[in-house]
Amino acid sequence: MLVSIVVPCMNEEQSIPHLLERLTKVIEPWKDSAQIILVDDGSSDDTWKLISEASARIPQLVGLKLSANRGHQIALTAGLLAAKGERIFMLDADLQDPPEVLGDMMLMMDRGYDVVYGRRVSRRGETVFKRFTAYVFYRLLNLLSDVPIPKDTGDFRLISRRALDAVLSMPERARFVRGMFAWAGFNQIGLEYERDPRAHGVTKYPFRAMLRFAMDAVTSFSISPLRFATRLSFFSLFVTLMMSLYVGGSLVLHNTAPGWASTLLAVSFFSGIQLLTLGIMGEYIGRLYVEVKNRPLYFVSDEVGETLSSNTDKPS
Ligand code: UDP
Ligand code: MG
Repeated sequence: MLVSIVVPCMNEEQSIPHLLERLTKVIEPWKDSAQIILVDDGSSDDTWKLISEASARIPQLVGLKLSANRGHQIALTAGLLAAKGERIFMLDADLQDPPEVLGDMMLMMDRGYDVVYGRRVSRRGETVFKRFTAYVFYRLLNLLSDVPIPKDTGDFRLISRRALDAVLSMPERARFVRGMFAWAGFNQIGLEYERDPRAHGVTKYPFRAMLRFAMDAVTSFSISPLRFATRLSFFSLFVTLMMSLYVGGSLVLHNTAPGWASTLLAVSFFSGIQLLTLGIMGEYIGRLYVEVKNRPLYFVSDEVGETLSSNTDKPS
């Protein structure tokens, strides 16, 4: 049975030697039927050089170089499209998720599961801020989302060919991969593990990228923010009613013109609500625009190793 391992890499020159060392050990039991796919997501350091050099040494290694940085989830998708395995294992290049659990995940999959995802019981070496935002993110996402998305899981998981084919058949551009697997269904189970600190280098997810990722996740899996706009407008109508009572009352009782303060209050309150509503609409319209353009997700500018070229040069 062929096992493919997919790893997106962006500026990971420090991690790659250690990653390959551990991965080659991990694939020992499946030596002749394993495939390691490293996707270089438009790195500006020596990542690609290291990948192509290593491919001369490691016959199971396949390298793909994207023509520009497309982001973690797209790089992952590129690797998944190139994967030939019957089972596919995905992880990050920074070794935060221990590749050694592959054995356990394989055993679980033998019991008939299609997706065995890793669930972090602890996240050592990550900032309080990152842990806090991640905690809030997964809970908020589940509150809003129409499909339950397993909490505290990343893309670290082993998947079966049929689960992967299901996800690859989804045409959307905004790819929130772990949510797409949750939506696809099949038999899923979590496996608990301890998340290690990043072994080398710094995070490739600055706050802005995290925010974009969270926005993609929420808008791909929920339309409740759009409904929220409607609810908000009910609320603002209610406030208007109350205000008109107050204004009307003070006109009759005190026989004075209502003050500028209430006018100002009303104007700023309602323009705030309008801007918020417009913003929510804008998020979705922007995404509609991107989906409608239907551009290819990425281009492969270089390949090393034995690739299934008919599969890799044409995303979706
Ligand atoms: N990554 C990528 N493209 C990007 C950003 C990140 O391919 O634009 C890769 C990165 O090399 C790593 C994985 O995605 O293998 C997760 O990134 P990172 O570990 O920096 O994120 P964190 O764990 O800090 O959230
Ligand atoms: Mg990481």
